[in-house]
Amino acid sequence: AQTERESMLLINEFAMQFFENQLHNTTDGQEIGMSYFRERAFSDESIREFHLGYSPEDRSALYKAATKAGYNKKLLFDTGLCIDDNRGGGYDRFRGRVMFPIFNIAGKVIGFGGRTLKNDPAKYVNSPESIIYNKRNELYGLFQAKRDINKQDKCFIVEGYADVIQMHQAGFKNVIASSGTALTEGHIHKIRRFTRNVTELFDGDAAGVHAALRGVDMLLHNGLNIKVLLLPEPEDPDSFARAHSHSEIERYIADNEIDFIRFKTRVLLKDSDNDPVKRAAAIGDIVKSIAVIPDEITRAVYAKECSTTLGIDEDVILSQIQKDIFGRR
Ligand code: ATP
Ligand code: MN
Ligand code: MN
Ligand code: MN
Repeated sequence: AQTERESMLLINEFAMQFFENQLHNTTDGQEIGMSYFRERAFSDESIREFHLGYSPEDRSALYKAATKAGYNKKLLFDTGLCIDDNRGGGYDRFRGRVMFPIFNIAGKVIGFGGRTLKNDPAKYVNSPESIIYNKRNELYGLFQAKRDINKQDKCFIVEGYADVIQMHQAGFKNVIASSGTALTEGHIHKIRRFTRNVTELFDGDAAGVHAALRGVDMLLHNGLNIKVLLLPEPEDPDSFARAHSHSEIERYIADNEIDFIRFKTRVLLKDSDNDPVKRAAAIGDIVKSIAVIPDEITRAVYAKECSTTLGIDEDVILSQIQKDIFGRR
């Protein structure tokens, strides 16, 4: 017999085809959904590869189509595609939005993100968590990117759906998104199957810089080699990829990608503007990041470099690293 998981995956597949069919073969799909994709310069190839779609405005278009095709109401509610109206029927979660299916690593549709076309305050609506969709473990685009991540032994992490797709379109196919949430250990374990070299690609504004500093100790702790790439303000990867050619982007990466510890050192030292107390705290913070790195030789390399850039005796840094490691045990 089919498990509940399998049934939920099947109904998501049905919904994905429904949204694609709406996009490609209906008037509203073309005039509203497709016009939006064109305006944002999503290519036909990307639209097909990422199986983008359109959810119509009707209150229950998908609900009606799915129940008519014989799917069980409970599955529509369990996947979050539809919501129980408590009067024996249901209505659609996604209405009047462009649709981004979220695939698991095996290529099964486990959920959706739907973007408003009308400045709805909820810019994106996402499928709720379920037995097939756990946000903390999923990375948008990994199914489409995994081969290239493996081949290039490197991946780029961006924020959102559009960022992933536009980077792919610009010829950078080793790009995935955390979909607006902080990276978790679950994400890291997925990435580590393909590479240990991760570059986080952030918006160049203050929020981007602080996002870059947050959560990275966890990545270092898991033995990843982390680099950071800040984009010029006010670009995000989506707009940047659209505004530049493949070789311009390559050049920008080569010139601006920076090792995470160096990045953190630069930011914290700048923030502590020569106040000795702040400076000491900043150095302590940098040393803490070095201390979480599992490999001893890598730690030693960073200790040496930081001793030079920070102007602190290398032995002092090494002994502080030992204290941090000991303190965590
Ligand atoms: P766009 O370019 O379409 O405006 P974006 O990807 O730049 O969207 P951001 O606001 O930068 O959107 O958010 C980054 C990511 O965070 C989104 O791609 C989406 O995965 C997630 N996100 C954004 N807003 C919401 C929301 N209201 N609810 C849930 N997730 C959201
Ligand atoms: Mn964004
Ligand atoms: Mn943002
Ligand atoms: Mn954007």
